[in-house]
Amino acid sequence: MDPRIALLGFMLESNAFSPVADEAEFRQKHWLEGEEIVQDARSARQRDPGGFVGFCRAMDESGPWQPVPLAMTTAGASGPVEQGFFDRFVRLIEERLRAAMPLDGVYIQAHGACRGTVDLDPEGTLFAVVRAIVGPKVPVVATLDLHANVSRKMVEETDLLIAYLTNPHTDHADRGAEAGRAMRELLAGIGTAKAFVKLPILPPQVALLSDRGPYGEAIAKGQTRVGGPILNVSVMGNFSFGDYPKCGMSVIVTARGDQAAADALARELAQDLWNERHRFTPKLLSIEEATRRMREACDDPEKPALLLADVADNPGGGGRGNTTAVLKSFLEAGVTDVAFAVHTDPPLVAEAHRRGLGAHFTAVLNREERDPSSERLSAEAEVRAVSDGEIVGRRGTIGGRHFSLGPTAWLRLEGRLDVVFISIRHQCFDTEMLEHLGLKVRDLRGIVVKSRGHFRAGFDDIFSDAQILEVDGPGLATPVLTRVKWTGLMRPIWPLDPDRTWRVPDEVAVS
Ligand SMILES: [Zn+2]
Repeated sequence: MDPRIALLGFMLESNAFSPVADEAEFRQKHWLEGEEIVQDARSARQRDPGGFVGFCRAMDESGPWQPVPLAMTTAGASGPVEQGFFDRFVRLIEERLRAAMPLDGVYIQAHGACRGTVDLDPEGTLFAVVRAIVGPKVPVVATLDLHANVSRKMVEETDLLIAYLTNPHTDHADRGAEAGRAMRELLAGIGTAKAFVKLPILPPQVALLSDRGPYGEAIAKGQTRVGGPILNVSVMGNFSFGDYPKCGMSVIVTARGDQAAADALARELAQDLWNERHRFTPKLLSIEEATRRMREACDDPEKPALLLADVADNPGGGGRGNTTAVLKSFLEAGVTDVAFAVHTDPPLVAEAHRRGLGAHFTAVLNREERDPSSERLSAEAEVRAVSDGEIVGRRGTIGGRHFSLGPTAWLRLEGRLDVVFISIRHQCFDTEMLEHLGLKVRDLRGIVVKSRGHFRAGFDDIFSDAQILEVDGPGLATPVLTRVKWTGLMRPIWPLDPDRTWRVPDEVAVS
């Protein structure tokens, strides 16, 4: 009999300070059920974030198997999930899983930094429901985002958790494939030994790139130890804006049955991170300084073009994707030949579509927005282009993927600044988010992106590291953690409580 493997997915990164994510938002962003999950994963232009793509590929290549696809949804990053919807989704999984028994394995594509409006550990809840149905002997493997906030329950209820290794995230499919290869080992009877360490470190999100700094070093060191008894090393940076007790960095080491090997490596990596915590610091420019730097780039064509990341309003961290502080400053300072990508503003996009190509009108940004950091702004606008916003990513995080922005519009404001407006809230991942409208990124003197870091993988062949600046603007995902009104974190935690002392706990094994 070919092994029957259930596939299911639920992904959300919850910013506790953002509006609640309801069923409508999940259905708008990504929702697949049953066979269409596998059809999509095996297609050339998939919508899947990548986990199922890699998992199915690895399973297909390594022998016969029977996928049992149940349901998959993701809302990217948003607020807490509305509890009633999450409970219904879990019941749906429960019913379909029971009906699908007997199963030989389960693969779950998860994020790991979700919070519910009631349940503060929805992934732990989901994993426990799965485990209760399939029993202790059926392997349960899940992939997690690098920003996962891991609970002990999540580790207990699964055989193996595999986190992304790259930030910007470009290895979703590779980690899915790793899950597929590991599933074959588990099906062959190898048992896992797991070690888990939670660290009281809350690094700002901009300090978690995987190719540099203490975080990159910990990931790289972990990867040099994979092989032999070590099956997987996952070092997760955490997502601080969850604002709940499971925030904080995590190390999970999973060994092929060798508990002592798992424990020793988890301890070593956790100790390294703690020793290096002082290096997790953001370097941000003020809006005034950023405006001056962009002005210089516009005035002198010999100077390299600049990319400014509006990191605090990153929709990928639950930001609203529409703050206007940088735009306002650029308009006032007379900056030209710069594009802003992408501002989420469905009413303005609808108006641009209604008025049509070439129309001139007074654009009112954020006319229906309620978050105080997303200020209204009025400017004379010309409609340069409109589209349905269905794109295929060019490279990096959404490279090759089919992606929906909802209806979009390119408006030129005050005759000199270009802004791409979209209808489905997303961060700026990819040049296609501008170029599908005819705006040429290489011709610009500068670009301002609403993104914390994933843009780096989509623009890296145009903007070098030296051309990228991070700006300290307003927004729900500010890297300046002392400005946030935290209520739910486990305290004390570094760097909010700089005198925090810590040592690796005696017990790190999880059974
Ligand atoms: Zn992430």
